[in-house]
Amino acid sequence: MPGASTGNPLLPEVIGVVGAGTMGAGIAQLAAQAGARTLLYDAVPEGLARGIEKLEAGIGHLVQRGKLQKAEADAVLARVTAISELSELAGCGIVIEAAPERIELKRELFGELAQVVDAGCVLATNTSSLSVTEIAAGTPGPERVVGLHFFNPAPMMRLVEVVAGADSSPEALSVARAVGEAMGKRVIEAADVAGFLVNRCARPFSLISLRLLTERVADFQQIDRVVRMEGGFRMGPFELQDLVGLDTNHVVAEAFQRQSYGEPRYQPSPLQARMVAAGRLGRKTGRGWYSYEKGMRPEEYRPLDPDPPSRGGGFGRVVVVVGELPVAGELAAAAERAGFEVRRGPGHDAPWLTLDCAGAEPGPGPRARLLHDTSLHRSEPGAVGFHLLPPISAARVVEITRTPATDELALEHLREFAEATGCHVEMVGDAPGLVLGRIVCQLINEAGFLIGEGNGAPEDVDAGLELGLSHPRGPVAWSRQIGLDHVVSVLDALHRELGEERYRVAPLLRRRLALGAVGLAD
Ligand code: NAD
Repeated sequence: MPGASTGNPLLPEVIGVVGAGTMGAGIAQLAAQAGARTLLYDAVPEGLARGIEKLEAGIGHLVQRGKLQKAEADAVLARVTAISELSELAGCGIVIEAAPERIELKRELFGELAQVVDAGCVLATNTSSLSVTEIAAGTPGPERVVGLHFFNPAPMMRLVEVVAGADSSPEALSVARAVGEAMGKRVIEAADVAGFLVNRCARPFSLISLRLLTERVADFQQIDRVVRMEGGFRMGPFELQDLVGLDTNHVVAEAFQRQSYGEPRYQPSPLQARMVAAGRLGRKTGRGWYSYEKGMRPEEYRPLDPDPPSRGGGFGRVVVVVGELPVAGELAAAAERAGFEVRRGPGHDAPWLTLDCAGAEPGPGPRARLLHDTSLHRSEPGAVGFHLLPPISAARVVEITRTPATDELALEHLREFAEATGCHVEMVGDAPGLVLGRIVCQLINEAGFLIGEGNGAPEDVDAGLELGLSHPRGPVAWSRQIGLDHVVSVLDALHRELGEERYRVAPLLRRRLALGAVGLAD
């Protein structure tokens, strides 16, 4: 009887997993833990043996950490059977395929599976980049084919995407969802578009960073540092490329460009292509953006991030904060906490420092300009430029830029101000939004395109990036904190000053802004 052991009526009693590699072994572990009898198949006998070993090690690890009793672990392992013939999958309610990422291989495999299993058996693919529709089109009964996309390592990551192909039936999608939920995952719905939901929304993270590097706004270590220390990400985009493999990342970029027929947002990076050509693929070759010696601990390839400077030292000096954006309010609060005397709005006698977050008429005294709607060269080359994104309370870095004409006193005062509010200074090149602003605003923009096209729900977008990729917050939550007017200002300024279509604003962002909405969704 389906679902007898878990109480979930849609959970099949027998789950098949095809391909026992990196992903398949973890998926089989999850299936057995969910209470299903689990059949694990691999075309290569050694691959199957390695997969079973990995699964046993995964369960053993849970016992060691006290997450599973020994008796439960034995029961989970007893539910797993290694099989060497596809025909043994005959009694499965769902088969999850995790074989190599090649379309001909998957289409052939699905054709064979369709011969073996009952008509009611759901056939799910764990593909990351191939079209579910294309795999289904070669399968008799394409309505039972769905995407079930896990994240690596499958037993740890708390997310799974259910992907509907053009012909996937609601029943097949419901079974896939029930399986994901029984495995303890947050299940989100993704459309069958390049990258589905999560990998599509995350595309700007590496592509925009490569762009910033190409334009020499900052070097790769700086970009990584800003992303970690200002943005709160666990890892910077260049560290992440090294971990995933630059070749893998580049192949994905090329696939996006092909599948979108040349959408400018997905243009691959010639800089990355050159790194790949040089064999600098990341950790696996010992050298990518960073160098890795054998046995090096993860944090040894770069210096540890410094502790923040201690807050305070404003000594009642007058700081004027101009502008109504959320960042202006947060800066004023941070200045007060650091002991400055804060005045809001323009029109004060020569203050110690003016933080202009609105592009106001320049007044007396040293001036710092927020670069949310312009570059410094274009707006006020005699001032010092800066940018940071709300929420600023957790930021440990402020990005600052200058021109040859920048007032040295303004630079000195802004540095002192940043340190008094508990932040280090990162000196970067001039551009609207500087480093983090450009990356995060383009993450929000990509989410705006996806949601506007009806290819994902706002809450799924945030869950996807938070749980699937460990982002500190999703783009929808971030848009609410920063404010859409700030986000659109950065994108419009980049579009205007760089003349690149990749920064054109998603229609949804403009519509929400026109309605006075604060973020991408309420
Ligand atoms: P892998 O190379 O680690 O494992 C693939 C396994 O499939 C190997 O054990 C291989 O022997 C076996 N195999 C080869 N041909 C087969 C066939 N005809 N029938 C059955 N088994 C066969 O690959 P992986 O990283 O586990 O990726 C598997 C799938 O999961 C791919 O579609 C990939 O895109 C997707 N995926 C991978 C990740 C990741 O981070 N590795 C994340 C999400 C999705």
